[in-house]
Amino acid sequence: MKKFKNLALLMALAMGLTFTSCSKDTANVVDEEQEALAPVGIPQDAFEKAQSLHFNTFDMQKTMFEKPGGKMEEAYLLEGDIIMSHDQLMSMEIGDGITSKQYRTNNLVSPGVITIIGYTANNSNGLSSKMQTALQWAVNNYNRLNLNISFQLTFGTNWQDKDMVVYQTNGSAGGSAGFPSGGNPYKFVQLFSGLNSSIYDTNVVEHVTTHEIGHSVGFRHTDWFSRQSCGQNTNEGSAGVGAIHIPGTPTGYDASSIMVACFSSSEDGEFNNNDITALNFLY
Ligand SMILES: [Zn+2]
Repeated sequence: MKKFKNLALLMALAMGLTFTSCSKDTANVVDEEQEALAPVGIPQDAFEKAQSLHFNTFDMQKTMFEKPGGKMEEAYLLEGDIIMSHDQLMSMEIGDGITSKQYRTNNLVSPGVITIIGYTANNSNGLSSKMQTALQWAVNNYNRLNLNISFQLTFGTNWQDKDMVVYQTNGSAGGSAGFPSGGNPYKFVQLFSGLNSSIYDTNVVEHVTTHEIGHSVGFRHTDWFSRQSCGQNTNEGSAGVGAIHIPGTPTGYDASSIMVACFSSSEDGEFNNNDITALNFLY
């Protein structure tokens, strides 16, 4: 998750305007959303797939994704902090799986124990001590709910055989994760080095870590339709399109949800009651 991205928004708006001016002669324009051109570097099929899954594609971009130890892979970055390979994006199912409020993906994690390791190698990917504490607190957030998934946390460097690995990468305050597939959580959770700033106490890092683990077990952004938490107001009013409401959770903007797209320096790191309702519903 990231803090404000108004520049990206402006660029996306500019590209949208460009498209409008270029498409005057296009016949049979049925659906403006589906006609939109993909940003530079994004294949049109991937862009349209992301739109059909009701992702907010305003700042969709191609990125180089760093794994623990520095290996880089190409991936898409959606909604600021969601990493997906081309294959995973294209294989995601459209339909009733894209559920909303609290939103989740089609894919959930199979019940059981999830092994999760905090990566502590003495290199740029090793977690800072604040991040390690925050990871412990984030895992506690989930485990104290007695869900049908639980996390077994260790710290070290042997991440290959674990279900999930939490590690540090260089960047502004925030993190990234992805969505489950095949009953497994998304393996790679990044915490960005900007979180080491004294502006952010351990509770804020706990918030970011809990949020990214939330994506890894299938949660979407609760404000994906508006990115209201980021100071944006895109696509307002379409909440619930192609989505199923989880009983007992609100249908509007839920500012204190841990799954809103952007965060502030005053987060307490805890689930709100709607997050807990949603977790208990799914797990
Ligand atoms: Zn997020």
